[in-house]
Amino acid sequence: MRKKLSVTREREQACPDTVSLEYILLMASQDRRLLQSFERHFLTCFTCQKRIDGLVVFYGILAQELQKPVPARVKRLAAKLSVAVE
Ligand SMILES: [Zn+2]
Repeated sequence: MRKKLSVTREREQACPDTVSLEYILLMASQDRRLLQSFERHFLTCFTCQKRIDGLVVFYGILAQELQKPVPARVKRLAAKLSVAVE
């Protein structure tokens, strides 16, 4: 019974917003307490599990796209925009 109450309380912790979620994931290797606090929530929160799955897919696609060479027409456009901003 006591274990069940504990799990319920941890699940009731509010889900972090998107910016906070990415911050937690980025800082996980440097801030053990932050990671452990979120981990308790994450293990019982299907919503956050799905959000992190989505982030993993997003950053996987981004990493693949960043490996591709930049087309010449995109470089020309970037150069024009750079001049316009200066
Ligand atoms: Zn959550």
